Amino acid sequence: MNRKYFGTNGIRGVVGDLITPGFISKMSSAIASMLKNKGTVIIGTDARLSSPFIKNNVISSFLASGIEVIDLGLVPTPLIQFAVKHLHANMGVVVTASHNPPQFNGLKVIDHDGIEIDIRKQLKVEEIFKKEQFTYVPWNENGSVTRMNLKQEYIDQIVQSVNIDSIQKKKMSVVVDTGNGAGSVVTPELLRQLGVRVITVNGNLDGRFPGRGSEPTPTKLTEMSKITLQSKCNFSVAHDGDADRAIFGDEKGTIFFGDKSIVLFEKWFMSKHENKQFVTPVSSSSAVVDIADAMGGKVIWTPVGCIFVSRKMISNNILLGGEENGGLFYGLHQSVRDGAMAAALMANILAETEKTFSDLVLELPKYFQKKDKLPCPNELKERVMDHIVAAIPETVELIDMDGVKLIYEEGWVLIRPSGTEPIFRIFVEAKTEKKTNEIMAKGMRLVQDALQKSG
Ligand code: MG
Repeated sequence: MNRKYFGTNGIRGVVGDLITPGFISKMSSAIASMLKNKGTVIIGTDARLSSPFIKNNVISSFLASGIEVIDLGLVPTPLIQFAVKHLHANMGVVVTASHNPPQFNGLKVIDHDGIEIDIRKQLKVEEIFKKEQFTYVPWNENGSVTRMNLKQEYIDQIVQSVNIDSIQKKKMSVVVDTGNGAGSVVTPELLRQLGVRVITVNGNLDGRFPGRGSEPTPTKLTEMSKITLQSKCNFSVAHDGDADRAIFGDEKGTIFFGDKSIVLFEKWFMSKHENKQFVTPVSSSSAVVDIADAMGGKVIWTPVGCIFVSRKMISNNILLGGEENGGLFYGLHQSVRDGAMAAALMANILAETEKTFSDLVLELPKYFQKKDKLPCPNELKERVMDHIVAAIPETVELIDMDGVKLIYEEGWVLIRPSGTEPIFRIFVEAKTEKKTNEIMAKGMRLVQDALQKSG
């Protein structure tokens, strides 16, 4: 059985289309039935206009199913993940569509360890949903709702995970662009408690995301960039709608993709800790390997997706993970991506050096990257993938945990069938632009040939 509703990051859809009261009630009843009608579930929402009706539907189904509910209100996803562990709850449900446009919403389902439920549990929920095998409890066993505010406990744990003395002494200024999303209720407050002067951009909660949208794409962060320069700030940070990701900019207003910041975190971490392991998806830049080699550390690859990174950290006792989309996983706080934690840790890194953010980025290994795609019907993807693998010469080193990544002397190409669209994605990185183009041509040819053989 394949998953129909759960994607890489929970269930998402357009409100009024997939996301209706009926759908949410049935899905929540399926989750409660998987929990065998007992236990405690933490719930919270992002700032979307549809979040209140969805939350009330989830709560209603849980109560009818005998589940105790703790409602944390409007908070970032990582705060719910923290709360599940902190309160020893059985599960968490976040009403959010993360960085998707405002007409979307959905559910992220968090397991008792704070990490999103794995594929087996997702399949179990979908099976109960499909067969409508919901179980409810008698009138005298219905659950109840408790409202709680765990913001300060969450902030305290982040504060304890950084060097507050260094940060306070540095007297930093930081621009925070929360994109009208859930990060507005935590990150500015957290940084202020660390002694940082904070200037907020799009810091008012608004589920229409009128500021710059809910996705922190570097080209959309011009306001944050401008203010950083005007107000002579040390750096800037932007979150997506549910604040599990963080995109950074330097003191000159240059905004970087996550591949730069995760390497900064990796380098700093490996210079401080004995456990020099770093987990990252196969799509990450080779800069992570260069840094690990230089610092005597090791990179552990995973398929693309934050759940794989989190689970690998837990199983292999690894304390740091990162994704090129701006996801930072800091195991000394929690092994899930956490935008507020990333902001505090960046302040920590800059507090401990005389160098500026742009100096630190200049010191990183340089690579050129290129992305492309080719259309391919979903039903052909497997066959095309087989043809691609068969055509790869044996002398080429490859990683095949998620699509195939071919590693050459001067660069690599990652070929992956998209999980959501009828396309193949081709992602190339190399030391020079010329090499990047050459490897891209090779990658495209491999996919085109395989498409022809499969058609
Ligand atoms: Mg997100």
